[in-house]
Amino acid sequence: MSTIFGPVHSRRFGVSLGIDLSASHKQCNFDCLYCELAPAPAMPHQHTVTPVDTILNDLTEALKQHSNIDVITLTANGEPTMYPHLHELIDQINILKGSVETLILSNSACLSDENVFNALLKLDQVKLSLDAATAEVFKKIDRPAEGIEIATIIESIIRFSHLFKGKLFLEILFVKGINDTLSEIEALNRILLDIRCERIDIGTVDRPPAYAVQGLGFEELYTLSQYFDPSLPIHIVSRTHAQAMPSTYSAEEILTTLDKRPLTAEDIDALFDTESKERFQILLNQGKIAQIERSNVIFFTPTENIHRKRSK
Ligand code: SF4
Repeated sequence: MSTIFGPVHSRRFGVSLGIDLSASHKQCNFDCLYCELAPAPAMPHQHTVTPVDTILNDLTEALKQHSNIDVITLTANGEPTMYPHLHELIDQINILKGSVETLILSNSACLSDENVFNALLKLDQVKLSLDAATAEVFKKIDRPAEGIEIATIIESIIRFSHLFKGKLFLEILFVKGINDTLSEIEALNRILLDIRCERIDIGTVDRPPAYAVQGLGFEELYTLSQYFDPSLPIHIVSRTHAQAMPSTYSAEEILTTLDKRPLTAEDIDALFDTESKERFQILLNQGKIAQIERSNVIFFTPTENIHRKRSK
């Protein structure tokens, strides 16, 4: 079984060639309620380990076939940072990759391990998940292996964010009735203010989950996004945009809404009715709304807001 998959086109990360560090079966130190893979008991270590050479041979072949990729993504059927030869693998990929960037998608649980922490510092991009701020909610949503504590994870993410020279992304996945309470969001908000990152993607259950849980609608996610500090680079990632009920916004309301939280074209399409979209277009043509880019995602924000932030 090849350890390489793709390339797949990701709106957030560009054209990605994936490396699966647990290609034969799921090996994860979490057993998240919302996992897209089948439920499996959380395990602290990988039992089946793919040799580094196998992965490098597969990658070399794949890179010969696909020259136009933006990023090599380390991922897994489970948690990629459980792979015990991460340092060696990343060093070898860095020799092979040329101008292509490297990325890992991690649940953050192993970041308190200095070996993993230092290995991840050698990547170009890192995406870390953080679904909860309190021990109670963390255990409920992510169902970690014994000994994994959210306080240690949070401390490691904050420390990593201040040392990492590449692009750091955070992801929070919301599950209805589990981590979407005001108190949990306030606790998350306090932590996020201490983390230096490019973008915070908030999403919900979009695919059939491992356990019987529900996601949030786009409007619920949008409402929830308003509780975070406006200075945080929150980005709503949801396939439930299509279910939203568009509303009417005056020109002033459009500017106030964008001032509070910059929106993507997809958000605007979901939130604004036809009339409001026309008003939005006029404001854009008048130069009252500007586009800003945050790591491959275009946001709209009031032009005045950009000047205000720059002059601070
Ligand atoms: S961390 Fe990822 S792979 Fe592991 S259980 Fe959670 S969603 Fe599934």
